[in-house]
Amino acid sequence: MHFALSSEQTMLVETVRRFVESELYPHEALVDRTDEVPGEIAQDVKRKAKELGLYAANMPTEFGGGGLGTFDTTLMERELGRASYALQTLVARPSNILRGCTGAQIEEYLLPTVRGERVDCLAMTEPDAGSDVRAMRTFARADGGDFVINGAKHFISHADIADYVILCAATGQAGGRNTISCFLVDFDTPGLTRRRGPRCVSHRGYNQCELIFEDCRVPASSLLGERDRGFELMGQWLGSTRLQVAITSVGRGQRVLEMATQWAATRKQFGQTIGKFQGTSFKLADMKTELEAAELLTLSAAWKDDQGTMTDSDAAMAKLFASEALARATDNALQIFGGMGLMDELPIERFWRDARVERIWDGTSEIQRHIISRALLRPLEG
Ligand SMILES: Cc1cc2nc3c(=O)[nH]c(=O)nc-3n(C[C@H](O)[C@H](O)[C@H](O)COP(=O)(O)OP(=O)(O)OC[C@H]3O[C@@H](n4cnc5c(N)ncnc54)[C@H](O)[C@@H]3O)c2cc1C
Repeated sequence: MHFALSSEQTMLVETVRRFVESELYPHEALVDRTDEVPGEIAQDVKRKAKELGLYAANMPTEFGGGGLGTFDTTLMERELGRASYALQTLVARPSNILRGCTGAQIEEYLLPTVRGERVDCLAMTEPDAGSDVRAMRTFARADGGDFVINGAKHFISHADIADYVILCAATGQAGGRNTISCFLVDFDTPGLTRRRGPRCVSHRGYNQCELIFEDCRVPASSLLGERDRGFELMGQWLGSTRLQVAITSVGRGQRVLEMATQWAATRKQFGQTIGKFQGTSFKLADMKTELEAAELLTLSAAWKDDQGTMTDSDAAMAKLFASEALARATDNALQIFGGMGLMDELPIERFWRDARVERIWDGTSEIQRHIISRALLRPLEG
């Protein structure tokens, strides 16, 4: 394993960094204040991302994507992660689960999503089924050649701008637990209602919705993958989502560190720059060390993914450590900025708010610890 970047990888990183700084940073304050991305800005970002070949870069070339492996996608995500989530998400990286599309689903969902004509979102979580996904109550009952879906999902990110949802629903029982299947459901399907959920403190403009299914009838051809094997299908791709959370946390943490370092080197109190006080400089040292460790852990997991050897535990360790390192980094940065850190004139308070969700979504820190410890203990238990 070595992380010396090739000239292509260096160019990718530089291209994304330039794009993020010139096309995304200028709109961040507006998006955070208004809690939405204006339509013309969204279109502009999407168009420029496509021109640069960044759109759907994670998807295989045979589907029209950029064909990047996990390591290269992770490098790109690190740079995108520096910017506001609501804006960087417009540089779409369609859900990897869509690779499971077969037959007509490829033309109807996968290809238009890669081309940017359709937008996907993913719905697992329910009010009574968060960490315990299998406890979900949304049920898809087989009825003739169709499935009839009833239930409710919440916290579904960017469902407000999506055209269809990759839905996880129970389709049966085995050993006293739900069996889960995945479905592709268009938002204009009768019986499906979406409405904006409560406002989230993190990542303003990247909104969550509630989805309500009332006798929502979909054809059997909506089934993504095999019936009752949805949990396995999701599990196959959950690791890459966790790496995304990990590396975007690293990217944002690096940006925060740069700003805090600049502030510490110029802000004066007691006749000297505050960076000369160890109480400040050691915070910078801790931030740098932890972010670098988080980056290496994540790149190492990404590299293993490309070799086909990444475990659930590898992805969980990266997500756990990076999201917690970001939390400490944003808190330390805010402390270094003093009162100004809390004012919305500067983006520090936004980074601090945004960091909070990283320890919760895509599996909480406790669930990541559960995955890691289970991998240690299980082989030794009877
Ligand atoms: C902004 C945002 C966007 C989201 N986007 C999406 C999305 O697009 N699609 C989607 O499906 N979901 C989405 N989610 C849901 C997210 O994945 C869940 O919030 C997360 O999995 C935790 O579930 P919960 O909130 O119900 O918390 P709970 O599961 O109720 O957990 C509450 C607390 O109990 C702890 N806990 C629970 N079980 C255990 C255990 N076994 N061991 C130790 N501690 C435990 C948790 O760690 C946590 O501290 C989003 C959430 C947020 C906040």
